[in-house]
Amino acid sequence: MDMSLINTIVVAGGTHGNERTGVRLVQKWMEHPECYSSLCSAKVDLVLSNPEAVRLNRRYRDFDLNRAFSQTCLDVNADPQQYEFRRAKELNALYGPKGAATKTDLLLDVHNTGSNMGNCLIVSARDPFTMRASAVLTQEFDDAWIYYQPEERSASPYFGTVAKADVCIEIGPQQHGTLDAAIFEETERLVKRYLELAEEWNRGELQKRAPIKVDVYTQFKDLGYPKPQGGGAIQAMIHPELLGKDYRELKSGDKLFRTFDGKDILYEGESPVYPIFISEPAYYEKDIAMSLTKKTVEEW
Ligand SMILES: [Zn+2]
Repeated sequence: MDMSLINTIVVAGGTHGNERTGVRLVQKWMEHPECYSSLCSAKVDLVLSNPEAVRLNRRYRDFDLNRAFSQTCLDVNADPQQYEFRRAKELNALYGPKGAATKTDLLLDVHNTGSNMGNCLIVSARDPFTMRASAVLTQEFDDAWIYYQPEERSASPYFGTVAKADVCIEIGPQQHGTLDAAIFEETERLVKRYLELAEEWNRGELQKRAPIKVDVYTQFKDLGYPKPQGGGAIQAMIHPELLGKDYRELKSGDKLFRTFDGKDILYEGESPVYPIFISEPAYYEKDIAMSLTKKTVEEW
C-alpha cells in the first residue's frame, strides 16, 4: 500500500490566460480562503500561473506557458526574452524545482477547452493517488473522463510536471475568454473533491477503497488538418458528423473531414480509435485537428 503523504498542493488557474474557469476559481479562493481551507490538512497554495495572459485574456503573451516546462527550457541560463519562459522559471523556483526534490506533492491545473470534452481528467503518470482519486470522480460526476497522456516527466513541457504528481483538469465545451456559471460551479466542486480525497489518502482510507473499473483513453497520436502536399493552408473542416463527438469510437472508413469543395475525407488507419480535443480552437496554431486515443478498461 502506498502511504507517501500529500503535504503540499498547488491549485493553478490561468496557465492559459483565456481559460477563465481556473482564473475565476483561483481569484475566488484567494478572496475567500474559507472555500477550501477546511477540506484538507495539506498546505494548499493558489497560483494564477500566467497573470500577463490573464490580463490580456489571451492564451499567452509570447509563447505557450504550458509548453515551457521541459527540463531543457528550465535549464536555460540566460534570462529569456519571452515572458512565458521567464515565468516558467519563476514558477519552477516557487513550486519545484522539477524533479525528486520538488516542494510540491500534487498540482491541480485547471484548464478549459472549446471541445466537447466534459470533465476531462488528464493524468500523465501512473501515480497511485491521482489514478485512484480520478477514478472516484468518474463515479461521482456526470460526463467525467480519464485521458492518460504518458509523458517522460523531465521532457514534458507541462506546468503540472514541476510537482511529484499532477492532474490537468480540462473542462469543456467553453468558449475561450468567457465564463459559464454551470461549468464554474461544477469545476469548483470537482477541485474541492480532489482536496478532500487527498485528505482521505493521507488518512490511509482512499487506498482501502475497492478498485474502480474505469475507461482509460490513452494518447495514441495527434491528427492535423488536411493540407496540400508540400504544405500550405488547411483544405478541410471537421466532418459535421464527427464534430462534438469526443470519446466516440472512430473506425476505418468513418467520416473525418469535409473539404472546402464539399468532399468527405474518411478515416484510414488503426481502429477503433477515440478522438478527443476535436476542433479545439487553440490547437489550430499547433496544427492539431484532434487527438486520437485508444480505450482500455482498467481497474484503478
Ligand atoms: Zn489550457
